[in-house]
Amino acid sequence: MNLPKTEIFHPVSDMLDVMRKRFKNRQLFVLTDENVSQSCLNLILEDFNSIGETEVIEIEAGEESKSISICSHIWNHLLENQFSKQDLIINLGGGVITDLGGFVASTYKRGVPFLNMPTSLLCMTDAAIGGKTGIDQGNVKNSVGSYSNPEAIFVCTSFLETLPEKEIKSGFAEMLKHALIRDSSLWNELNSIHSINCESIIPYLATSIQIKEAIIEADYYEKNLRKLLNFGHTIGHAIESVYLDSNHPIAHGEAVAMGMLVETKIAQLMNLTDDENAAGIISGISRYFNPTTFNFPSFEKMKPFLLNDKKNVGENIMMSLVKKPGEAVYNVHITMETIEIAYHVFQQNKI
Ligand code: NAD
Repeated sequence: MNLPKTEIFHPVSDMLDVMRKRFKNRQLFVLTDENVSQSCLNLILEDFNSIGETEVIEIEAGEESKSISICSHIWNHLLENQFSKQDLIINLGGGVITDLGGFVASTYKRGVPFLNMPTSLLCMTDAAIGGKTGIDQGNVKNSVGSYSNPEAIFVCTSFLETLPEKEIKSGFAEMLKHALIRDSSLWNELNSIHSINCESIIPYLATSIQIKEAIIEADYYEKNLRKLLNFGHTIGHAIESVYLDSNHPIAHGEAVAMGMLVETKIAQLMNLTDDENAAGIISGISRYFNPTTFNFPSFEKMKPFLLNDKKNVGENIMMSLVKKPGEAVYNVHITMETIEIAYHVFQQNKI
């Protein structure tokens, strides 16, 4: 499969030069959210207009926008503007925009070209890459979606300058995940960062992106190796879904960080991880994401989401777990009882 390689730029003018050469005279349709519109689109809109006729559709920021009603709103807008297969949708934003915009593009007229231009760290290192698009249905995250690849992925690190600290941390959680599943030296390097901010993390962004790309190339349709990227996500998605249900969404990466902590404990209980590695991983993650101040939902509220996890085989809950930094396994069957024991360690602050 011919997958697009992520291209990294700094400053914005370098990216715009490449766009001018590659996309000249195409009608551009920019999908963005209200925050990104203010902080990023304003910097580049004039240049977009000089590349091709540019239409903008701005939606509300937040996970709630990954919905079928917002899709319908965008499809209508595309129809009203006679958007054709020669034109280009630009998904400018975080993972909500690339998931939603990719899904809209892959279904409108059975597929039109799109470009991912991630503006959040999480999207740069993860969501924009790998062809998964989708929306949430009935608060079950990513329950409707498709595999569809953008024509290109343009990461411009200048966009990170306006990203709130909470969102930088959220993306950093996925970088920690990439390191833990595949690259022990990256794990050590990330652990040496004292304060998470754009300057301190940008040097590691390319390596983190390459880890995701290598996994996707080896197993695009998640038959085997790609499952490793789900480390932290069985518990993380359930936490995120409970919060979404209660109308208090939390950052995806924060939920994943809590998920990685609980899942490391599970690996330890299963004797997949020895005590020393488990302690090292837990203290490494806790340095940046403090579980003692996190409000873990009740386990009863988590259960329905755990039972609905996409990796389950029948009623069996399957997880991807880390044995030691850089080495992980997938398709591990875990009982609800083991999950509950590990979960309570963190929920009841018994670490
Ligand atoms: P997001 O898109 O909601 O962005 C987070 C917040 O940051 C939003 O408020 C947004 O407006 C703001 N923002 C983004 N860039 C900004 C900038 N440069 N300056 C100022 N504000 C900015 O969320 P996210 O964390 O980027 O992505 C989470 C989503 O990604 C979830 O829906 C998750 O399911 C999805 N995801 C998908 C994949 C995949 O492979 N498709 C992988 C991981 C996550």
